[in-house]
Amino acid sequence: MDFAFDARTEELRGKLLAFMDEHVYPAEAVAEEQRALLASPWDTPAVVEELKAEARRQGLWNLFLPDSEYGAGLTNLQYAPLAEITGRSPQLAPTALNCAAPDTGNMEVLSQFGDEQQKKQWLEPLLAGEIRSAFAMTEPEVASSDATNITTYIERDGDEYVVTGRKWYISGAMNPDCRILIVMGKTDPDGDDIRRQQSMVLVPVDTPGVTVKRAMQVFGYEDHYHGGHAEVIFDHARVPVSNLIGEEGGGFAIAQARLGPGRIHHCMRLIGMAERAIELMCRRAVSRTAFGKALAQQGVVHNWIADARVTVEQLRLLVLKTAWLMDTVGNRGAHTEIQAIKIATPRAVVDIIDRAIQLHGAGGVSQDFPLAELYAGARTLMIADGPDEVHQRSLARRELKKYL
Ligand SMILES: Cc1cc2nc3c(=O)[nH]c(=O)nc-3n(C[C@H](O)[C@H](O)[C@H](O)COP(=O)(O)OP(=O)(O)OC[C@H]3O[C@@H](n4cnc5c(N)ncnc54)[C@H](O)[C@@H]3O)c2cc1C
Repeated sequence: MDFAFDARTEELRGKLLAFMDEHVYPAEAVAEEQRALLASPWDTPAVVEELKAEARRQGLWNLFLPDSEYGAGLTNLQYAPLAEITGRSPQLAPTALNCAAPDTGNMEVLSQFGDEQQKKQWLEPLLAGEIRSAFAMTEPEVASSDATNITTYIERDGDEYVVTGRKWYISGAMNPDCRILIVMGKTDPDGDDIRRQQSMVLVPVDTPGVTVKRAMQVFGYEDHYHGGHAEVIFDHARVPVSNLIGEEGGGFAIAQARLGPGRIHHCMRLIGMAERAIELMCRRAVSRTAFGKALAQQGVVHNWIADARVTVEQLRLLVLKTAWLMDTVGNRGAHTEIQAIKIATPRAVVDIIDRAIQLHGAGGVSQDFPLAELYAGARTLMIADGPDEVHQRSLARRELKKYL
């Protein structure tokens, strides 16, 4: 078994690490200063556009997309260590490289299932980083981790679909550059096959009847850099039938296809977040003294740092194995491993960031260090893209099947 990265990955890693040092980390404080002066907190600070232009110039663009016609054509195994590096600055780096969720998943859906017109109208400007997008599935009224529950109605009326429903936690929809929503709803709510009732349609944000009502918070954060997490109302919003993605009744299958890569990307970035937390923990431990000793000399701090390092190494190996399986046997063949990393990574990273916060004392929960925001982001991933318990249920059932 060869654990080394191949030449292309090493080359891109070198470039990306330099890009992070020279451009991204210095831009973190600049972006905050610029944000304070913006007319709306949802506008994009100018430095983000500068980062995008520089990343594109350096060929660090659309690295997530395995399709070489549209993206960089990297395998999951090649992209994994790059996504990890972007996770060290999760507010800026993924956007700078045009590799931020939910646009990445939406671009994958459009490249795999979109027709030529849909690709031209929506995929091309997304690939160019000119517009943003959102994915609207979750509804406040129903347990949306079970996608068969959703109630948004996509009713056919002549050559139009009429969309009616209420969604929330729709990431990215507060961003004024967000122009297009991929909406999951039911075209056949009474159909016999519960997994063929749903379809996905493209709904432009400026469609009459669409209201982006408010920004939902995450532990009090509004996630300005990623366009927030909006509540969106669809009140008889009409779109042409040509806005259907794939076929009627195909929504469930597209959602499954979308979530495989999305989940592993989240896990890769989470490992980068853990690395940032470990770095901050170590720097703080060697620079702060309490009761006559550097914090780094306390045994309990050694335990935290050692446990964090061991955990990250374990997680990374499992994530890389999953990426390799996705490349070699496909997303379906890697199902168990995708679920395993989705269960294991957020909770372990939350734990590491929690220790780093503890070591920073009050500073750890403050706005002067990125730890509190990293914690909030990592914690949500125990819920978003399917709560832990749903993945545990499915993984355990597959395990039990072997003995039935
Ligand atoms: C920051 C953030 C961003 C998000 N972005 C998006 C987005 O862009 N688009 C979008 O559509 N949605 C998004 N979501 C929503 C997310 O996908 C849902 O919250 C998630 O799927 C869970 O659905 P729910 O909130 O309705 O919880 P429910 O389905 O009501 O589940 C609540 C809890 O019930 C428990 N539970 C459920 N099923 C089982 C089971 N089988 N066994 C045991 N326990 C169970 C779990 O503990 C679960 O957390 C986002 C959420 C967050 C927090």
